[in-house]
Amino acid sequence: MIREIVKHPAEILTQVCKEVTEINEEIITLLDDMYETMVEYDGMGIAAPQVNVPLRIAIVELGEERTLIEMINPTVIETSGSSVDIEGCLSFPGLYGEVERPSYVKIEAHDRYGQVYQLEAVDYDARCILHEIDHLNGILFDSKITLVYTEEELEEMFEEE
Ligand SMILES: [Zn+2]
Repeated sequence: MIREIVKHPAEILTQVCKEVTEINEEIITLLDDMYETMVEYDGMGIAAPQVNVPLRIAIVELGEERTLIEMINPTVIETSGSSVDIEGCLSFPGLYGEVERPSYVKIEAHDRYGQVYQLEAVDYDARCILHEIDHLNGILFDSKITLVYTEEELEEMFEEE
């Protein structure tokens, strides 16, 4: 089921989300709904507070194959490097801007079966993972933007490529 996306400003987007204590049917439905909602609105990732659920759950699609990863109670184990690139966010329609983030990240999380896994990611994949984990800590990307782009400027950039 496609859920409504919470747009900024909203209190739930700035709260620290709670740990998931049990992966039950509700959590599985939430994961499925988050995926449908992300696809519907053409996002690369989405976090539970963005669909009005204050739990530490986020999903991201990685790489050109858009491999889906589900992160329940994710923790960042290690980061390194730095890169600047343009980000957007489903909770901020029309806002795009340059954000500096680590270019490498290693995380640990649970999957929907309760299994713990570790994952390493670089470049834009690392960026997406860190953007979504920020959501779980109530941190929004607008506070990290160093240069704002309008939609028109972005379209021009893509046309030039
Ligand atoms: Zn976001």
